[in-house]
This record gives sequence, structure tokens and C-alpha cells, in this order.
Amino acid sequence: MDLQQNLRKYAELILKVGLNIQPGDNILLRLDVHGLPLAREIARQAYQLGAHQIHPVFSDDQMTLARFQLAPDAAFDEYPAFLTDFTEGAYLNNYHLLSLFAPNPELLKEADPTRISRWQKVTAIAGERVMKYVMENRVKWSMAALPSPAWAKAVFPDLPEEEAIDKLWASIFQVTRVDQPDPVAAWAEHDRQLRAHEELLNQYAFEKLLFQGPGTELEVYLPQGHRWMGGSSISPKGERFMPNIPTEEVFTMPHAYRVNGTLSATMPLSTRGRLIEGMRFTFKDGAVTDFSATAGQEILKDILDTDEGARRLGEVALVAHNSPISRTGLLFKNTLFDENASCHFALGSAYAENHVRGKEMDAEQKKQAGMNHSITHVDFMVGGPQLNVTGVKADGTRIKVLVNGKWAI
Ligand code: ZN
Ligand code: ZN
Repeated sequence: MDLQQNLRKYAELILKVGLNIQPGDNILLRLDVHGLPLAREIARQAYQLGAHQIHPVFSDDQMTLARFQLAPDAAFDEYPAFLTDFTEGAYLNNYHLLSLFAPNPELLKEADPTRISRWQKVTAIAGERVMKYVMENRVKWSMAALPSPAWAKAVFPDLPEEEAIDKLWASIFQVTRVDQPDPVAAWAEHDRQLRAHEELLNQYAFEKLLFQGPGTELEVYLPQGHRWMGGSSISPKGERFMPNIPTEEVFTMPHAYRVNGTLSATMPLSTRGRLIEGMRFTFKDGAVTDFSATAGQEILKDILDTDEGARRLGEVALVAHNSPISRTGLLFKNTLFDENASCHFALGSAYAENHVRGKEMDAEQKKQAGMNHSITHVDFMVGGPQLNVTGVKADGTRIKVLVNGKWAI
């Protein structure tokens, strides 16, 4: 594998498909030290495509960990408002968000969980004002991943570090189609396929979905006017961009008050620097009434206690169990990858674009429509080879949507 050549192709894919950079656009670029070689390649290509400014926003895992372990307690209860102003100012000035992230699945394993939850809450509340620019696609935004040594070791625990990093790069290039001769063209075709599923599901306009699998027996009503989305999103200027690279999902919003039954996660969830394993939920009238986890239960409890909407669902996503990511057979221990290998739900906020009137309704109308609101949005995976999903139309007609984890429509 020629890493340099693949980095150039990855950068091109991120700029042309991920952000769809146009002359005069600016980029707010989040990265850490592992992302520098890719970010430098992105900068060269972005300016050639006509970008005016790229503003890097740097973070570092070791500094983050040091803060959680050593900073005074009061530091976790306040988020500087000027940082939110900065981000909003950028979004209002034609800056688009690119996150190059190198996950570190268990970075905060040894950190005080109450600090993690307090900080999570403070940043979520402070970030609500800017999160809507992303949740409503008011700016173009895209996320792409790259290996950190810690992530590579988590995915390939038996390999020496360098080999693990090479192997993780190869896997990333495979599932992002960078290993194909023309990744940009491959993504255009992939986007067409995702949007075909999206259209079909929108035509069915199911009243509810039934999920059946090991430990799962769940009835999920969909709001009237719900809209399935897959593949690219559209900016206010009408420019298509790809929020997630990779993406394999077609998703919509469940009815926040009409979900009943039991649901079992099929993969561990890496969130807030910790792993949650063996999650099980009971839902009544849309809310989680009972839950358990075999590891990380206190983190799960924190997520559910974030606010009222954190106990309800904001997203239901269908992903075939034979997607390129599932076919690698790897557990990536990162949501961007694992959620695109598996059907998933999200606790917390729904996306406005998943309802035909999502961007016009006020808070009360959204509630009436069954659209969930929360300051959090946490995906967890429920798919697998034994999952069946059936769609039920308002007239009672049943359509098999996924059988044994694979598309049946
Ligand atoms: Zn999703
Ligand atoms: Zn999600």
C-alpha cells in the first residue's frame, strides 16, 4: 500500500465529496497531532480548489487526559462562552466544519466519571446554539477518521503498534472506497444507491417498524411526515455534501412517544472515552423505563439522565449486515464505523431533516409531531445476522424490510 498516494486520494474524497468545497468557502478544521499529514494534504488541495481560509482547531489526547486528572474541580462546571461565539461566528462567515478524528476509545478510562458527565453536560448546553448549524445542515460538515496508535491497538490488539496502524489505514481505505481507482466516482454511485433505498422507504411511508432479534422485540412508530435520508445532505445553497465518510445508513426519526418493547445492543459503544457493553433497554410510550449494561452502566445512566429527551429515541437507521464495513468483520470500537456496519438507534435529539416540516416547526409543534429534542445524540448498534425488520403501513400491509440483517426490499 502506498500511504502517500492513498492520503492524496483520501484528501480529494473528503474535499470533493465530504465538504464539496466551492471557491470562496472556508474550513474550520478540527484535528489532533495524528491528523497533521492528512490535514496538510487537505490544505494544499483545498486552496487549489478555491478555498479562502482554513482555520485549524487543535486538540491533544494527553492534554485532555491531564486536564481530567489534574485540573481543579471547578474547571468542569464552566465552558467559556467566547468559544461558542467563535464557532458561531465562523459558521456565519461561510466556514464549513471538517473533523479529522483519530479516536482513542478508552482515553478517559481512569478519569473521574462525575467529571466526565459534568463536562459533557456543560459543553452540550454551551454547544446547543452551534449544534443546530450542523443538525439543520446550515453549514456543510463532514467527519473522516484516521488511526491513532491507541485506536489501532484497540482494533488489532495482537499486532505490534506499527503493523496495527498500517492495517487500520488499509481498513479505512477499504471501507471509504479510497482503495478503488476513482473513489469520487465510486461515491457518486454509492450515493445513488443509498438514495434509491431512501426513496423506496419514503414511498412506503410506514406507520411503524417492528424489530425482532435476540433480546429485541420492539415496536417503533414513525411520525406522520417522517422522511428517510441516506447518503448526501444538501446545504442551504443547494450543494450536496457527505456528512459521514464512511456512511452506509438510511435513517429517519422514530416517534418520541410511541416506542414499546425491549431492545438489546449488539456491539459495545465507545463514548466519552469509555466503553459500554451489553446494553439492554425496555421502552414504554417512547421512554426508557428500565436498562442495564454489563460494563459502563454508570456512563449509560449519565447519558439517560442528561435531560428528558435523552431517555427517548431520536434516530432509527437501517444498515445491511453485508455492508463493506460489516464484511471486514472488525469491531472498530468507534461509532462512525460501527454504526455503519449495523442497524442502530440514537438516544436523544432527532434531525430536523428527517421530517418534511422539521425546519419550520416551533418547539411545541415538534413535540406534537413526535420529534424528540435533547442536548445529546448517542448512537448504539442493534444490527446483526439475526435481526428482522418489518414495516407496517397504515392499512395494515406488512413489508419485510430486512431479513436476517440483509435488505429484502
Ligand atoms: Zn445514524
Ligand atoms: Zn446518529
